[in-house]
Amino acid sequence: MFDTHCHLNFKAFQKTLPDVIDRAYKAGVSYMLIPGTDLEASRRAVEIAKGHKGVYAAVGIHPHHALESLGSTDDRRKTKVDMIEELLREEKVLAVGEVGIDKYQYKETKYKTGSINPDFIERQKELFVHQIQLAIQHKKSLILHNREAVEDTLLILKDHWGTHLEGRTVFHCCEPDKQLLEFAKKHRVYIGVDGDVTYNKKKQEFIKTVPLELLVLETDSPFLLPEPLRSQKKYPNEPANLASISAFLGDLLNIEKDELARVTTQNAKKLFTLGW
Ligand SMILES: [Zn+2]
Ligand SMILES: [Zn+2]
Repeated sequence: MFDTHCHLNFKAFQKTLPDVIDRAYKAGVSYMLIPGTDLEASRRAVEIAKGHKGVYAAVGIHPHHALESLGSTDDRRKTKVDMIEELLREEKVLAVGEVGIDKYQYKETKYKTGSINPDFIERQKELFVHQIQLAIQHKKSLILHNREAVEDTLLILKDHWGTHLEGRTVFHCCEPDKQLLEFAKKHRVYIGVDGDVTYNKKKQEFIKTVPLELLVLETDSPFLLPEPLRSQKKYPNEPANLASISAFLGDLLNIEKDELARVTTQNAKKLFTLGW
């Protein structure tokens, strides 16, 4: 199996990383992709990927970090996006990500400004466009993050789409939305399915309408524990739990478990052009 989105570069795994990766291999997860969320996390993703077989990285700035990304870097002549661009040359970097728009108002806000104000959204959009262009220029895949911003996300994608991105883009942790699916079918964008499908009825109904050839699996570790682990509070989520997401999906879609694993792995390899 292929965990197409796991934040092994996050603090939650600082002390346990070798064991977590080992448990993933043992559970049948031979491929993992670690997305970047800011410059530091992107560097860390590359570093972890370099040291582990089957582990790959994406680099990029998540919309949460749109404002900080304006700040200077160690090398003051370069912006953070310039530094992300440099990381794209690293061998195990397969994609730009995760990038997009996020309008969700977190209860305990992470934002210095304390709110999702128009300036912040403008900055997110600007950063998003810039990073889509990087993926096209450097012939990389693209990992999209959208939360409660379907309209804006699709408008930007339609304006800045390139044929290069067809079959090489994923709506990670895809919201159950008809417009997203329509765009995905038209442009061969993959749909990322996470552990929340085990308890979210809306997602279950949505996933049934997605063509099998567009489905990829992800854990979004350390977040989104699948059931029953969620009720048991077995945090943090980790890539080994992809096996239970895959088994659940097999039942939901009436596909034999091994077949579902095989097809979604092949889809993920196509998405990241890993050879299949
Ligand atoms: Zn995300
Ligand atoms: Zn993520």
